[in-house]
Amino acid sequence: NFLSKKKYKAKAGGVGAKQRRHGKNGEDLFLKVPPGTIFIDNDGNILADLQNEGEEYKAVIGGRGGFGNWHFKSSTRQRPDFSELGEPGTELELQLELKLVADVGIVGYPSVGKSSLISVISAAKPEIGAYEFTTIVPNLGVVNVDDRAYIVCDIPGIIEGASDGKGLGHQFLRHIERCGLLVHILDIQRALITGELDINVLIDTYKKLRNELKLYSPTLAEKKELVVLNKIDLLSDDLNLDEIIKELKKNDIEIFTSISAATRNGTDDLKNKLMPIVIEERKKIKFVNDALNESDEIPVLRPQEQADQMDAFTIEELEDESIRIKGARIEQLSVMTDFNSDGAVRRFRDVCDRIGLLKAVKRHKDVKKVIIGEKNVSDAFDI
Ligand code: GDP
Ligand code: MG
Repeated sequence: NFLSKKKYKAKAGGVGAKQRRHGKNGEDLFLKVPPGTIFIDNDGNILADLQNEGEEYKAVIGGRGGFGNWHFKSSTRQRPDFSELGEPGTELELQLELKLVADVGIVGYPSVGKSSLISVISAAKPEIGAYEFTTIVPNLGVVNVDDRAYIVCDIPGIIEGASDGKGLGHQFLRHIERCGLLVHILDIQRALITGELDINVLIDTYKKLRNELKLYSPTLAEKKELVVLNKIDLLSDDLNLDEIIKELKKNDIEIFTSISAATRNGTDDLKNKLMPIVIEERKKIKFVNDALNESDEIPVLRPQEQADQMDAFTIEELEDESIRIKGARIEQLSVMTDFNSDGAVRRFRDVCDRIGLLKAVKRHKDVKKVIIGEKNVSDAFDI
C-alpha cells in the first residue's frame, strides 16, 4: 500500500462557535503496517519498531485547537476581541522498513531440503538445487493452517565456520534471530553410504550445526528447536526408521517428525503440528518484549513536548539584516496568533514582553525583519 500512496493526512478539526462552543476535534488517522515494520526518520534514526500485532506508534500529533476569545477574559480584559488560530498539524517524513519476522526459521546444512520443505508447505517457490548454496537469499513462506497462518523462513546453508563469516551462513543468521522457533533439518542422505546408514554422520552434523548456532548467538541457540529428519524416501526397506530415531534419541537428539519433502510424505502433518507450537512461542515472545519495553521504552515522537518552555528560544542573525527566532512554543504561539486582530497582536506582544523576547530583539541593531520559525512577525515588533 505504501508504494502506491505515500502521503497521508488526517482530517482537520472544525471551527468553534458562539457561546463558547468547541469545534469538532480532528480525527486520528491510523495506518496499518505489518508486524516487523520499523520507522526511520530522514537522518536514519529508528523512531519505532513495531514487532507485535496490535502495537501502535504515534508518529505525529495534530495541532492544538486555538482558544476562543472567552479564554482570554480577565479582570483587565472584560470582552476579549480576539481569539487564537488553530495550530497547523505536524508533518513528518518517515521511511518504513520491514524487518523479517518469521515464526519458524528452518536451519540445516546445505542441501538437506530446507527450500524443498518451504516450497511444499507454503506458496513460496524458492530455488531448489542439488548443489550447495542454491539459496542465496532467505525465502519467506506463509503457511496456512485452516484459517490461521504462520511464516517460515528458509535460512540458506549454515556450514561449519559460518559464525566466523565462512560460507553464506553468517550473513543470513541474523534473520533467524527474531523467529520464535527453529526447525532443524537432518538429511538422511548424508548418512547413507552404499546402502548403509552411518548414524554417526547424523549425530555429527547435528552437533556441528548446533555449535554454529551457539557461537553466533546464545539467544539463538536457546530457541526452541524441533529436529526433523528429511529424505526418508531414500531409506530402503531394510533400514528401519524407528531404529534410527531410537539411536538418535540415545544421543540426545529427539526427532520431532520424519518427512520426505520430495514425496510430501509427512509434510502436511509437520505443517499442522507446527501451528499450535508457533502460537505458544508467539505468546512467549510478546511476554519478553513487554518486559523489555518497561525499561527500554520505544521512542515516541511528541513534537510539542520537545522544548515546551515559552522562553526557550534562540535568536539568529541572518545575512539580510533580519533575525530568526526559534523555539517550539514561541513558534507555536506565532502560528496561532491572528496578526490581523489588534487584540491578538497585543496579547502576542504581552507574551513576548513577559518572556524577555521584546528586549532580546531590541538588542539587535538595524534589524529590518523579524521571523519566528517561518513567519514574518516584523509588524508585531514595530519593525
Ligand atoms: P536446501 O539447500 O536445504 O535448501 O536444499 P534443497 O531444498 O535445495 O534441496 C537439495 C536437494 O535435495 C535437491 O536436489 C532436492 O530435490 C533434494 N531433496 C530435498 N528433499 C528431498 C527428499 O525428501 N527426498 C529426496 N530424495 N531428495 C530431496
Ligand atoms: Mg535452499
